[in-house]
Order: sequence, then C-alpha cells, then structure tokens
Amino acid sequence: MSIEIGCTGCGQTLRVADEHAGKKARCPACGTIVQVPEAGAAPLEPVTESPFSVSPQPAVDENPFGERPEPALNPYASPANSPFNPPPYSLRPHRGGLILTFGILGVLCCMPFCIAAWVMGATDMKEIRAGRMDPSGQAMTQAGMIVGIVGTVLAGIWILINIAMIAANAM
Ligand SMILES: [Zn+2]
Repeated sequence: MSIEIGCTGCGQTLRVADEHAGKKARCPACGTIVQVPEAGAAPLEPVTESPFSVSPQPAVDENPFGERPEPALNPYASPANSPFNPPPYSLRPHRGGLILTFGILGVLCCMPFCIAAWVMGATDMKEIRAGRMDPSGQAMTQAGMIVGIVGTVLAGIWILINIAMIAANAM
C-alpha cells in the first residue's frame, strides 16, 4: 500500500510508501516538502464517519444520558446522609436471636435463661429506642423479652405453688 497526497506546491498527486507516514516527502516535480500524513491519521477519517464513532457521541451529547448518572448517584449518596444507613456501621448489632433463644430455653428448661432474656431484652430495647443499636432486631428482641417475662412469671408462679404446697405439707 502507499499513501496518496496532493503536493501543496504543484498539486500533483504523490505516492509515498507507508513507511514514510508521518515524515516529510519531497515532491519530485517541484521540490516542495510535503507533510505525509501519519498511518494512523488515514484510518481515523473513516472511523469518525462510521457508526462506531457516531454512537458514542449521542450518548455523551444527549441530556438524558448526562443527567442519569446524577440521580443514580443520589440514591447511594442520600442514604449515607440519612439516619437509615449509619446503623449498620455506627450502631451495635442487635442480640435479638440470642435473646429469643434465651427466652425459649428458659421456658423449655431452666428459668435463669428467662431472666437473662428479660434483662437483656429490656436493655437492648432501650438501646434500640435510643438509636444506639441495630433497629432491625427490635421485633426479635421484643419477642425474646416477652418470652423471657412470660417464662419468668410462669416459673415464679410455679415456685410459689411449690412453696405453698411445701408449706401446706409442712402444716
Ligand atoms: Zn510538487
């Protein structure tokens, strides 16, 4: 292949080998020094006219595409400033699962677990309401606390009944 250029001096078409691309060539007819376009320059012209170069331009120029990135960024930016996003990072994780487990364990086997669930649940509910603990565990924490209270009350009643029976037997 060769590069065809028009001489700036005499207008004659010069054929220059590709290896001279980007260099200067001397016109054999008039001796004018002609700048040979670079090899990469020639392919650039058809590319700008091809659909590959046309398609990116509308994407950049069209307003909908230019405005979309901002609304897309806002949902990520606004929660960071909202009170909903900080909890996972700044708040302590809730102990809802542990408290509920303690409450159920207390009802099923030993009463001290119920008291633990009650105390822990009450403490954590204060923390959640004060905004210092992950509020996603509020329902579980409350359930665990209620189970703990019920278990403690039932165990207390059971103990009172036993004491009453012992007292009755003693009399
Ligand atoms: Zn010439």
